[in-house]
Amino acid sequence: MVEVSSPPTIESFYKYIAEGKLMGVKCKKCGKVMVPPKPLCENCMAKDLEWIQLKGEGEVISFTIIHVPPTSFASIAPYAVAVVKLDEGPKIPGIVKGVTQPHQLKVGMRVKAIFEQIPSTQAWPQWSRYYFQPI
Ligand SMILES: [Zn+2]
Repeated sequence: MVEVSSPPTIESFYKYIAEGKLMGVKCKKCGKVMVPPKPLCENCMAKDLEWIQLKGEGEVISFTIIHVPPTSFASIAPYAVAVVKLDEGPKIPGIVKGVTQPHQLKVGMRVKAIFEQIPSTQAWPQWSRYYFQPI
């Protein structure tokens, strides 16, 4: 087995985000791709996983506009949160940059991930994060 470069944890996931990479882990046994990473395959329970870099593109499968956010996101409200089905298969939620009105988004719309880098001295939720933006 080839050792993974970083443990398949949320922390590693965000470390890659800070480098501008959207990474997932792929099961070497059944090919299942998981984002964020899990320590074992949720399909076949294998632990033989490898990191793969995702294109960061996919399509919106559902979305909502948040008007009443948690305090840490108050400054950017209203904002859209969409569940995006990535081209590699996994579905992940994310804030869609620049969208404040429901008519600006459509189910099936193509979006891509963009990254915001924040100095790593900050505590969560001030970590570097990914956003989506319409293509
Ligand atoms: Zn598997």
